[in-house]
Amino acid sequence: MLVAILPGDGIGPEIMAEAVKVLGVLELGLVLETAPVGGAAYEAHGHPLPESTLRLAQAADAILFGAVGDWKYDKLERALRPEQAILGLRKHLGLFANFRPAICYAELTHASSLKPELVAGLDILIIRELTGDIYFGQPRGRRTAPDGAFAGAEEAFDTMRYTRPEIERIAHVAFQAARRRAGGRGGKVTSVDKANVLETFQFWKDVVTEVHRDYPDVALDHMYVDNAAMQLVRAPKRFDVVVTGNMFGDILSDEASMLTGSIGMLPSASLDARNKGLYEPSHGSAPDIAGQGVANPLATILSAAMMLRYTLQQPEAADRIESAVRAVLAAGLRTGDIWSEGTRRVGTREMGDAVVAAITGKTITTS
Ligand code: NAD
Repeated sequence: MLVAILPGDGIGPEIMAEAVKVLGVLELGLVLETAPVGGAAYEAHGHPLPESTLRLAQAADAILFGAVGDWKYDKLERALRPEQAILGLRKHLGLFANFRPAICYAELTHASSLKPELVAGLDILIIRELTGDIYFGQPRGRRTAPDGAFAGAEEAFDTMRYTRPEIERIAHVAFQAARRRAGGRGGKVTSVDKANVLETFQFWKDVVTEVHRDYPDVALDHMYVDNAAMQLVRAPKRFDVVVTGNMFGDILSDEASMLTGSIGMLPSASLDARNKGLYEPSHGSAPDIAGQGVANPLATILSAAMMLRYTLQQPEAADRIESAVRAVLAAGLRTGDIWSEGTRRVGTREMGDAVVAAITGKTITTS
């Protein structure tokens, strides 16, 4: 099995090194091939998603992605900005379903900004549609300043659009995911929209309701996005699977990730129709802490576990990684983002080493 390793920018290379170390110790016979992406690829090849990187991603069985982006690229024309690499990969690989679990580990309950009783045992799944919506609409506006900025311009707009097949396939994915989580039957899907003001999302709501007829055992409710944003912090455990469009999903999944204490803990998967996927941490390239060796590598390590489970059909290996992460947390090791009084603060590499030690059965020492 070939895995494309795309570390990217900022903390990307640091957290990826730890995930690669963890995959290596499992001895699964995976072939890992690394290529530049994002700002690093722009520096090396003049494009955030060079042809050679795209070819590797297409040839690979799965892709493990770090993070891309840095404020220093903000003035580049949009097509050359690092974030375009993610959009390009999603588009070229037909990745339309973004899975972002938000799980609150018992040891980190206190790290949440919400009261422990609101988040203890939280296990929800946000499914975000990735190929439609306003992010792929027509951007319009006239950049007037010599550096490409909008100074003095009178307007700018982007169009919002969804097609029936796009909504149908993500609705099927959501109902099937709810069933799987419920052990084969049942579960609940909350479809999030803004049908009260947007035609696109009245259409979304109607199509999701139609698809629901195929899943009578799964409960469905609909919620406006503003209410969903509120309910996520008021009573997050009321949710099971949340399905929504590209933009609302972008925002709500970040909000949901903070319920768990740290964005540094959360993996994600973007899957195509045949479960080939791109796996990446939910967070960005964190330029503010890049190069300091303090980033939390667990989201990337857990993304590797998701990759083993969903695409590479190695569920036992995925279990081993997830158990090792739980053991490391139970032993009191914490990177700065999840540190609290009485726990031991460790750096990126030390955290990766501890996960490796837990997998190989070595003792994790705390001091
Ligand atoms: P971010 O997720 O990079 O950082 C937000 C905050 O969380 C920062 O304070 C950061 O230090 C912290 N953080 C993030 N990951 C962490 C980790 N593993 N361990 C400890 N702390 C962590 O979001 P941002 O600051 O809004 O964006 C920074 C850059 O990342 C931008 O260029 C943005 O476009 C890009 N970005 C990329 C992706 C991606 O590659 N998929 C996603 C989001 C943002």
